Amino acid sequence: MQKCKLIDRYNRNLNYLRISITDRCNLRCVYCVPRELIPKLSHDQILRYEEILRVVRLGVRLGISKIRITGGEPLVRKGVYTFLKELTKVEGLTDVSLTTNGVFLFDNVEKIRSAGIRRINVSLDTLNQKKFQEITGYDMFHQVWEAILLAYRAGIDPIKLNVVALRGVNDDELADIAKLSFTYPFHIRFIEHMPIGKARRRFDAPILVPEIKHRLQSLGKLAPVENGTNDGPAERYRFKDAMGEIGFISALSHHFCSKCNRLRLTANGQLRTCLLSDHQEDLKGPLRSGHSDNELAEVFFKAVRSKPLEHKVATHQSESISTQMCAIGG
Ligand code: SAM
Repeated sequence: MQKCKLIDRYNRNLNYLRISITDRCNLRCVYCVPRELIPKLSHDQILRYEEILRVVRLGVRLGISKIRITGGEPLVRKGVYTFLKELTKVEGLTDVSLTTNGVFLFDNVEKIRSAGIRRINVSLDTLNQKKFQEITGYDMFHQVWEAILLAYRAGIDPIKLNVVALRGVNDDELADIAKLSFTYPFHIRFIEHMPIGKARRRFDAPILVPEIKHRLQSLGKLAPVENGTNDGPAERYRFKDAMGEIGFISALSHHFCSKCNRLRLTANGQLRTCLLSDHQEDLKGPLRSGHSDNELAEVFFKAVRSKPLEHKVATHQSESISTQMCAIGG
C-alpha cells in the first residue's frame, strides 16, 4: 500500500492518533465520570493489543506519526508496559506519549521509560489534598505528586500537567498551579471544561481561557512560545525566568478546530474524528472479520471524509455529547 496522507475535506493533515486502551478508570473525577453507572466494556469488546498495533502500523502507512495512549486510565490495563514497548518500536512513529492520572505512576516510571516513552501528561487539577479527594473521589494527591516528582527525576521530559479549570473547585488556585512552572520544567496545560457526557457534576459557567489568563496575571507577563508543527492545540507561553511553560487549551472559547490534526480510536475499536461529536466509524468489526489492510484503510478514509469543520458544542449545551469522556479518552 502506498503511503497516502489522511487529508480531510478542509485540507487538515491528520497525523495524530489518540488511542484509548480501556474505558476503566481507578478515579471518579466529578467532571468526567458519569453519574449513572455505565456498564463497562467486556474483555471481548475491547481491542486486543495486537489489534491496536495493527491499526497503528496501518495508520503509520497512511501518514500517522504521533500517538498518545490514554483511557479510562491506561495504566490499569494488564500488559500495558509490554504493549508500550511494542508500540514505540513501530517504525515511522516520531512521537509516542501517554496520559495518566498518575495513581500507578510511582511504581512504574522505570517500566514506562524503558518502554521508550519519553514524555507523559499527568492530570492534576489541584495541589490540595482535600480538594483532590473531592474531585477524584480518592485521597491520593500525595501519591500522584510524588510520582510526578519521581518521573521528573527519572528524566521524563516534558511532563505536562493537565488542569481542567473548574469554577468553585480549583479556580482559586490556578495561579498556585501555574507557579510550579518557576520551580519545575513542567508544561502546565489549563483546559476549559468541556460538556461531554453526563458527568457526575455539571459546570454551568465554564471558566474560559481569558479568565484563566486573568487569574494568572499576578505572576507576571506571559511571553508566547512558538508552536512547533507537531504541537497540539495549546497556546503556549512562558513566564519570564520560568523553567516550565504554561499552555491554554480553549476548546470552547476559541476552537482550535482549524488546526485539528487528530483522530481517536476508542477502546472498543471505533474511529472518531472529533472529540466533541458522536460520529464514529467501526474498525473492530472489519478487524475481526478478516478484512485486508486496504479495506481497513477505507474505514480510515471514510472517517476522514466525515471530519467536521468544527465542533458545535456551545458552552451552554452540556450533555450534548452522549459518549463519556472516559470512553473516548480526552
Ligand atoms: N485517566 C487518564 C487521566 O486522568 O489523565 C486519561 C484519560 S482522561 C479522560 C484524559 C484527560 O481528559 C484528562 O486530562 C482529563 O482531565 C480530561 N478531561 C476529562 N473530562 C473532561 C472534560 N469534561 N473537559 C475537559 N477535560 C476533560
